[in-house]
Amino acid sequence: MANTLAKEAILSVNSKPLIAVPSTDIKSLFRSRIVASWQRKWDTHPSHLRKIQPSVTTRLPLPSTRQGQVLISRLRLEHSRLTHAYLFSLDKVPPQCTKCKSVLTVEHILLHCTTFQQNRIRWSLPPSLTEVLGDLPAVEKLLQFLTTAGLLQLI
Ligand SMILES: [Zn+2]
Repeated sequence: MANTLAKEAILSVNSKPLIAVPSTDIKSLFRSRIVASWQRKWDTHPSHLRKIQPSVTTRLPLPSTRQGQVLISRLRLEHSRLTHAYLFSLDKVPPQCTKCKSVLTVEHILLHCTTFQQNRIRWSLPPSLTEVLGDLPAVEKLLQFLTTAGLLQLI
């Protein structure tokens, strides 16, 4: 008899919460699960920006001027007038680099094109898109590179 009463007492205690959970802990738990879900979606999303910003929780730095912010955002998304204006043309043919004869992309302009090699060396641009477009000192150098290369108005 005493044994069954003890079992019933244990079961009744286990069915009730023993400790009240603060709302801040619950908010923190939900926030971390939402961020994890967002990160999983971001990891499988085919985006140029993901190469530069692998984590959804970190914000990429932007230059202080509005013009600089617009330029860097366009380059990070790999959509510029120079590389994507063809979408508004009738023939819809992507532009080619006049010197290298390869498809003109942001990556080609910033990292590979021989036309801008001396300019890249002059401004000490890093050798990867992640570094060129993700780091604020490199972004400031990139803006100077675009200015001296005559590309500022074409981006
Ligand atoms: Zn080229």
